[in-house]
Amino acid sequence: MVSDILKKNILNKEDLVILLQVNAEEKTLLFEHAAEIKKKTVGNIVYFRGLIEFSNICAKNCFYCGIRHENRNFNRYNIDDEHIVNSARFAYENKFASLVLQSGELSSQKFTRRVTRLLEKIHKETNNELRLTLSCGEQSEETYKEWFNAGAHRYLLRIESSNPELYIKLHPNDKNHRFEKRLECLNILQNAGYQTGTGVMIGLPFQTMEDLANDLLFMKNYKIDMVGMGPYIEHSDTPLWNYRHTLLPLAERFQLSLKMIALLRILMPEINIASATALQAIDKLGREKALKVGANVIMPNITPGQYRNDYHLYQNKPCTDDSAEDCKTCLEARVALAGNTIGYSSWGDSKFFLNRNNI
Ligand code: SAM
Ligand code: SF4
Repeated sequence: MVSDILKKNILNKEDLVILLQVNAEEKTLLFEHAAEIKKKTVGNIVYFRGLIEFSNICAKNCFYCGIRHENRNFNRYNIDDEHIVNSARFAYENKFASLVLQSGELSSQKFTRRVTRLLEKIHKETNNELRLTLSCGEQSEETYKEWFNAGAHRYLLRIESSNPELYIKLHPNDKNHRFEKRLECLNILQNAGYQTGTGVMIGLPFQTMEDLANDLLFMKNYKIDMVGMGPYIEHSDTPLWNYRHTLLPLAERFQLSLKMIALLRILMPEINIASATALQAIDKLGREKALKVGANVIMPNITPGQYRNDYHLYQNKPCTDDSAEDCKTCLEARVALAGNTIGYSSWGDSKFFLNRNNI
């Protein structure tokens, strides 16, 4: 019985596999349980992280991603510092308190220095009052430390799948796409003092319920501070497009994503869980539904409008035509609909991270 499983103190892999497949009233029970835990631990407060997708130039070739190096069917961009700083100021003035700077992965010294300079400029322009998150892929220990010292205190690097055999199917089998390297990077980030975030895509080709259950346990065992995970959505200019016939229907991928979020909230009550933008690509109210079952972070896209269409990771990416202001207004209404309030002017650090470090 699902209600009995939910009463257990520790959920094991078998429990998680069962819970990932519940439907109807049992699914409602799961979602209500996760919502209750969220309310009791992190509260019904949602933190905004202004998302700036500052460059879509990428040296890698992940099989799922629309901006992979070998895709030549769109414009590459690299937003100049001034425009990025303007977006950062928008976030600051609108009391977002946190920013996420995301890009394709490059490992040149020029890129490293550029990000360092950018962090310094943003901090200067916003009075050192913003919490900055980076999501720029795998880097050397030296680079991660340089960026930490320049004021990036959170880092998001999704493991994509915690199953090394599945990971290989999603990436070229070469030295630039190694599962072990990704694990090593997560370790380095944690040791360097970052609030460390990871996540997976849900509903990937070849992925099983056991894989997803193991992903959840991976995040727990790795003592991850924050998670951003959402549905995998196919893109016609990627190698995985060939496997689109094997995928779960989008509506099922969506429900599975909600169950993953709910289960993660139950397993790790004090972490921050982002309501991924990809949820909204499937269901217009997707991100709000995720807030109701455990997510507590939303990332309004504040990338300058003219670049949005070219950060095209998957089909139907939402809000590509909205201005930053539109995005903020629509999100405010949606958060209220989900019975949550926005933690304006609050960093919303991961409670789990603060407790782990006795802060
Ligand atoms: N390049 C950095 C990296 O890979 O960590 C950061 C940017 S990358 C575009 C951010 C995330 O987008 C990836 O971790 C991946 O999970 C997600 N993503 C890429 N393609 C996707 C797709 N087709 N569907 C859903 N999510 C996707
Ligand atoms: Fe590049 Fe990240 Fe896309 Fe991989 S997921 S191709 S590293 S942008």
